[in-house]
Amino acid sequence: METIKGDSHNLSSPVVGLLQKKKSLLGKSDESNVFILKKADKGVYISNGPMSEDIKKKNLPYIENIPLQKISLLKEGDIVLATPEGQLNIIYDSVSRHNCIFATNRCNLKCVMCPQPPSSEPDPLIDTQMAAIKLMALHKPEYLAITGGEPTLLGPGLLELIAACKKYIPATGLVILTNGKNLRKFSFVKEIVELQHPNIQFAVPLYSDDYSIHDKIVGIEGSFFETIKGLHNLALFGQRIEIRTVVLPQNASRLVNLAEFIYRNLTFVSHMAFMGIEITGMARKNADILWQDPVIYANDLEKAFRYLQRVDMVASIYNFQLCILPEKLWPFCRKSISDWKNGYVDECSKCAKNNDCGGFFTTSGAYRSREIKSIEQQINIC
Ligand code: SF4
Repeated sequence: METIKGDSHNLSSPVVGLLQKKKSLLGKSDESNVFILKKADKGVYISNGPMSEDIKKKNLPYIENIPLQKISLLKEGDIVLATPEGQLNIIYDSVSRHNCIFATNRCNLKCVMCPQPPSSEPDPLIDTQMAAIKLMALHKPEYLAITGGEPTLLGPGLLELIAACKKYIPATGLVILTNGKNLRKFSFVKEIVELQHPNIQFAVPLYSDDYSIHDKIVGIEGSFFETIKGLHNLALFGQRIEIRTVVLPQNASRLVNLAEFIYRNLTFVSHMAFMGIEITGMARKNADILWQDPVIYANDLEKAFRYLQRVDMVASIYNFQLCILPEKLWPFCRKSISDWKNGYVDECSKCAKNNDCGGFFTTSGAYRSREIKSIEQQINIC
């Protein structure tokens, strides 16, 4: 998420609130870039230039001098955390379908391609998260993910977040993005299930049917079998599970074996997602061993999908561009990249499929296939 920072005044503790444009005296939205972060009867004023004298005189909390290109990221209806240091974090983007609660930066794995490497930063305050979830009731989001780091490391804190989601946004589909290792503890899974969230799903990564390949990718020996135990615990309670697999040079040739492993041993899985890599964080550091033109995975994906279709399992492809895959895989491709880091290249502007294609991670920079070609152009060439 982009960092938005200005100069803070009279703000002694973090404030979570709903962003509103400041109204003029006539009640119209003010033309200038001045927002109020509403919190009950109080508010934090936010401006791109120096704050107006009338607000300064009232001794109200405010953040001023936010660069113009950063303040333009703020929209009415966003749920924002303002810190005494003058930082504004958009917790909930009012126009996005890809919002998440960022539970912790800690993790119990060291994945070779982690886009957001773990750190020892303190966890976001649980009160802040709870306040944000309460405000989300105004938006009634269709989906919300709880992510990290590894959210199960919060233990009872995760239970509190799930319970708050059930209370304030019960119709929102909740997705817990977890590596599944802590779900090997039967009693913890039981506590989650006993919350009886009406619409919860667990998205768990499994990178190979071969435990040594999986463990090497996640950087901790023994993880494969712990995750498998976690998946079985979820299944014992009839929970909805999606398996997520980032396609890498290390596991691509065995995608069909992984599909078969899941069909035979984890038949209860409701959905599989094969994902293109985001080259940022650890993935950028390890790009020499992780980056290959994704066009070379097309065959492996096709074989895996042929198998999954035969056994009637539901699967999707995330983060791959349509033009580098065979047409028969297009119906499985989803627009999966979060809006704030989703982009297209010049070639896409003349592509007949640019409304259906998920595009690129802007965070991956120049790491993209050399085979990107607008789809009309490909047809013309043929
Ligand atoms: S040209 Fe662009 S929009 Fe068209 S399929 Fe390729 S990446 Fe997608």
